[in-house]
Amino acid sequence: MSKQTKFLLNENQMPRFWYNLQADLPKPLPPVLHPGTLQPIGPADLAPLFPMALIMQEVSLEREIEIPEPVREVYRLWRPAPLFRAHRLEKALGTPAKIYYKYEGVSPAGSHKPNTAVPQAFFNQQEGVKRLVTETGAGQWGTSLAFAGSLFGLAVEVFQVRVSYDQKPYRRAVMHTYGARCVASPSGETEFGRSVLAKNPDHPGSLGIAISEAVELAVQREDTKYALGSVLNHVLLHQTIIGLEAMEQMQMTGDWPDVVVGCTGGGSNFAGIAFPFIGHGLRGGAKPRIVAVEPAACPSLTRGKYAYDFGDTAGMTPLTKMHTLGSQFTPPGFHAGGLRYHGMAPLVSHCKELGLLEAVSYNQVECFEAGVLFGRNEGIVPAPEANHAVKGAIEEALRCKREGKAETILFNLCGHGHFDMSAYEKYFAGELTDEHYDESELAMALAGLPSVPQPA
Ligand SMILES: *Cc1c(COP(=O)(O)O)cnc(C)c1O
Repeated sequence: MSKQTKFLLNENQMPRFWYNLQADLPKPLPPVLHPGTLQPIGPADLAPLFPMALIMQEVSLEREIEIPEPVREVYRLWRPAPLFRAHRLEKALGTPAKIYYKYEGVSPAGSHKPNTAVPQAFFNQQEGVKRLVTETGAGQWGTSLAFAGSLFGLAVEVFQVRVSYDQKPYRRAVMHTYGARCVASPSGETEFGRSVLAKNPDHPGSLGIAISEAVELAVQREDTKYALGSVLNHVLLHQTIIGLEAMEQMQMTGDWPDVVVGCTGGGSNFAGIAFPFIGHGLRGGAKPRIVAVEPAACPSLTRGKYAYDFGDTAGMTPLTKMHTLGSQFTPPGFHAGGLRYHGMAPLVSHCKELGLLEAVSYNQVECFEAGVLFGRNEGIVPAPEANHAVKGAIEEALRCKREGKAETILFNLCGHGHFDMSAYEKYFAGELTDEHYDESELAMALAGLPSVPQPA
């Protein structure tokens, strides 16, 4: 029998609904709190930031939420995305395990991010919004929102974390090409940005600071809303199209995953591949092990505290309960910019607390090593973020080899690394080192977490 490598769905097999894990959770999410009153907030409190359709998705307990036809029409530009069996990687590792990967690098932006950028732009346009403001780390999210904004006729303004703005000029050029404006953060364009620069003119920036700048601008204008590329429930919801497709495709293979692996920054691509499988397990189906892989330099799930914290550095966002390194924590400037966030999606954090997933962390050099091995066998050069998932999958495959087990491993290859080649060049020159966060800064950031009275 010839070995099948690629598993494709046709356009009509693309899911018509996103999957909402909140419908199947044994325990509901802790409430989101108002930063001033510390009381649970309602949909109206979020209205200055987001259109009502997205707010309702944020709090929905319905299992299936319909994907509007105009969104499906744009999705069809690259979806359904392919699922591959990594025969060559398996052979290179000498593992009895079967390794499958879902590839999200086929989108126009080269990552999973357009899966949510497109519906976010659509729902904003439907409610008369003219301009979207956002933050971006490596530039993946900014690029994706710029793309989506151009399709739905919205102006897009992006605050890009300084260190990535300098490291990745080509992502900025792509944002410009789609018609968006991109500013390095901290910037002189907001009160908060100016206050950060006053203390440190060479501040490398962080996602937390860039979020504060974007939120500050968004609340100033009626025609402007804010868009977030990860963390929030509605973002994770949109990403479940990854796992829903992967389930269909796994059925085509005749195998079913024993382990599902994804990398976690804010948690959206991981949730995208994992939540449909977790939900299936909660409804009585098979329960694969679910493994979240994060960078050792920014380990919110493995080293963070599960506590209420702000999503941004200035303390303008509502408080959510999540695994956090503290909103005052600035992660070191390693290359997987998309994973440099102090917190974790509340839904992913909640699942960790409920024992529905495991988390591991790896350093950047070993992740690049894994990415290079993957590229040389499978042909795709992964994004530095995706290298964490590759590393996680390889470690599972090597465990199978040691234990003599022919398990099935599925991981999400969330993006390609074509705009990250300078990081690969540094790796080959031996100039890429493992970055370590400052233990005392982490301790201080954790000590500074907002104090929220424990519910009785
Ligand atoms: C943004 C990004 C990430 C991190 O964000 P998540 O919300 O955790 O998915 C990971 N990989 C790539 C390729 C990204 O662009």
